[in-house]
Amino acid sequence: MKYISTRGQTEPVSFNQAIMMGLASDGGLLLPASIPTFSTPEIAKLATLPYTELAFAIFSRFIGEDIPEADLHKLIKSSYVTFSTDLVAPLKEVDGLYIQELFHGPTLAFKDVALQFLGNLFEYLLKRENRSLNIIGATSGDTGSAAIHGVRGKENINIFILHPHGKVSPVQERQMTSVLDNNVFNLAIDGNFDDGQRVVKEIFADLEFKKRYKLGAVNSINWARIMAQIVYYFYAYSQLPTHAREDFTVVVPTGNFGNIFAGWLAKKMGLPIKKLVLATNANDILSRFINTGIYATSQAQPTLSPSMDIQLASNFERYLYFLADRDPQKLKEMMKTFTDTGKLNLGPELFSLVQDDFSAARVDDEATIKTINNIWQKTGYILDPHTATGVCAANAIRNESSAAITLVCLATAHPAKFPEAVKKAIGKPPIAPPAIAALDNLPCRSDHIKADTETIKTYLKEKLDLGGC
Ligand SMILES: *Cc1c(COP(=O)(O)O)cnc(C)c1O
Repeated sequence: MKYISTRGQTEPVSFNQAIMMGLASDGGLLLPASIPTFSTPEIAKLATLPYTELAFAIFSRFIGEDIPEADLHKLIKSSYVTFSTDLVAPLKEVDGLYIQELFHGPTLAFKDVALQFLGNLFEYLLKRENRSLNIIGATSGDTGSAAIHGVRGKENINIFILHPHGKVSPVQERQMTSVLDNNVFNLAIDGNFDDGQRVVKEIFADLEFKKRYKLGAVNSINWARIMAQIVYYFYAYSQLPTHAREDFTVVVPTGNFGNIFAGWLAKKMGLPIKKLVLATNANDILSRFINTGIYATSQAQPTLSPSMDIQLASNFERYLYFLADRDPQKLKEMMKTFTDTGKLNLGPELFSLVQDDFSAARVDDEATIKTINNIWQKTGYILDPHTATGVCAANAIRNESSAAITLVCLATAHPAKFPEAVKKAIGKPPIAPPAIAALDNLPCRSDHIKADTETIKTYLKEKLDLGGC
């Protein structure tokens, strides 16, 4: 399979190159040259497979000859043994909805599904090409810990994660700083998340430094992350009762449009998803887009579901590319209009295409808290605040519809990752699973450092010139 850039100015690259590249060299996002499809009988067969074999069947269609079958099997297996259930993404019936729990990986958020695989894939490709990579990134919490757990202890990779000192939740902080592998460096910076991002951007802008120290990003736009997330949409279908399988609706708590874009691809590949419902919190650029056809920025604000507090969705360009009829020139014009004016109006024709596949809801903190409380009262099941935005949207759809609908809500984090929000909703924090309870007693390591680009460059030099890998 060849990979192309949405901006059309990168020569088509192999799967391996697409993974190592992350962002395309022309600034666009990489996509497979064509989307593979499965026939109805093939989908029925996929529905009989265990998670790892399903992943193999899907991945091999996107990878082709680039990774030998036996190696791919091994990579997938080692990526998902770290999950606390063989099902990886189990589906549970709660209050007449299906909740798909994507939080059974090492850091208890859905990002593990992709980052456990990406870590192994990086290690495999680097070894094969006899190269090394130093990942650097800034985090406000979830991505940093999932990325660290994805690459800890791996050969030929170091990871440097900047988090704002004292400003990430205690659970998130310990999930990062208790990882003591030699290839993991936690930098607690004086400042906030934006300061961290600025430093990382400035370091990347020094191209000579970037090349010399083999720096790479831990991107939410890496194609492997999208690919890995397609699998659980198919696996939701596998676990639905047969009568509910045709035409089910999936509700996705959304931030950067990565997760829901994977669902859209699953639909394009032939999975009978009727609608994808995009749930946002008060940061509603994407739900406004789905409901009006106008993509327009506004001010970011903090909410109880911090992993969805974004204003610009980094994966959105991939979807726009398809709306632009896969025409890079048209896509570039759309992006330019948006960059120049802060606004993009699709017009009625394209808007109706959007509405064929998506609907959307904005769920504020008050409704989030109410939803957590309500589901807990009714069933004893505790939702995390991100998942609760989706469940609130699902309930609204149920209330408006006269016919019965099958609704699958993706649960993107374990409630124990966000104990303060849960306590607000039900008066007590959720019981911490062993992975979180154990964190209390672990030794931690991080380096407290100024949010200053030169200081952090010096730090990198010191660590990497000393050998490292
Ligand atoms: C990252 C994240 C999201 C948002 O996912 P996107 O792929 O960015 O849309 C939602 N919930 C949780 C818990 C997350 O960590």
